[in-house]
Amino acid sequence: MKIGITGASGKLGNWAVNKLKNRVADKDIVALVRTPEKVASLGVEARVFNYDKTENLAASLKGVEKLLLISGNEIGKRFEQHSAVINAAKEAGVKHIVYTSLLKADNTSIALAPEHLQTEEALKNSGLTYTILRNGWYNENYTETAQNSLAQGALYGSSGEGKINSASREDYAEAAAVVLSEEGHQNKVYELSGDQAFTMKDYAQMMSEISKKDISYVNLSEEEFSKALEQVGMPTAMAKFYAGTHTSTLNGDLSDNRNTLSALIGRPTTTITQSLEVALQ
Ligand code: NDP
Repeated sequence: MKIGITGASGKLGNWAVNKLKNRVADKDIVALVRTPEKVASLGVEARVFNYDKTENLAASLKGVEKLLLISGNEIGKRFEQHSAVINAAKEAGVKHIVYTSLLKADNTSIALAPEHLQTEEALKNSGLTYTILRNGWYNENYTETAQNSLAQGALYGSSGEGKINSASREDYAEAAAVVLSEEGHQNKVYELSGDQAFTMKDYAQMMSEISKKDISYVNLSEEEFSKALEQVGMPTAMAKFYAGTHTSTLNGDLSDNRNTLSALIGRPTTTITQSLEVALQ
């Protein structure tokens, strides 16, 4: 039985292949990527797979029984791209698609949700077996810019006291590997998030403790934050989107205390402090 993984050249997909290699034979894993050379070091079969080249998708899925569809990163084009993959999977005889969606996709103010929800619906209507992994925020969304925040001496945002239950990409990838390699996850929707909640103020405090420098959290209105992001060079639409996600935190959109992710992977999720320690090494 072959298991295909789209987006395997990306950060989550790379982790997913590596986690799956601990659970199934390398020969049963197929990395589905635009550029096979990018994934040569993974040591699994790589096939060309571009969401936009719809005519070639079904052929690349030959012999694949389960497919991890990692959501694309071209916002606004994703429903069309994901639909093409679902249709090709049907044509190729794939039995089960695991899709990486967004935490609370059916009940969130985050602007990314509609494309995910549309994909979830297309998947449910496809007649294929599905598992939907509604992933919360990655720890790395914060920690990848930690060095910049240190240099600035402050963290800016508009999330006030909003709580965030993020987890590492590695944790979400491991959950995907579990679902792809074990029985019992058919036609389920999992809300996945980190075990621990933190606010941006907590995060600034952690950064101060680890770096031994004084880092404060400066809370702005959504509009002020968006303008501040533009001033440091972020394009307007991106700045608005980014500030909007901060404000969504106030609605609880990035928080969830069901601990479904740690239950799936059989261990506590990686804390933001652990990810921050790695980022600031
Ligand atoms: P990356 O940007 O590292 O990876 C995205 C992957 O999608 C890459 O492998 C890329 O391929 C592939 N891809 C993009 N467009 C196409 C296409 N047209 N056809 C085939 N493959 C394509 O993102 P991450 O791994 O960090 O995250 C995975 C996904 O999770 C993101 O794409 C996004 O949907 C979502 N996300 C979730 C976040 C969260 O906090 N939960 C944060 C950020 C994103 P290539 O290498 O060829 O470019």
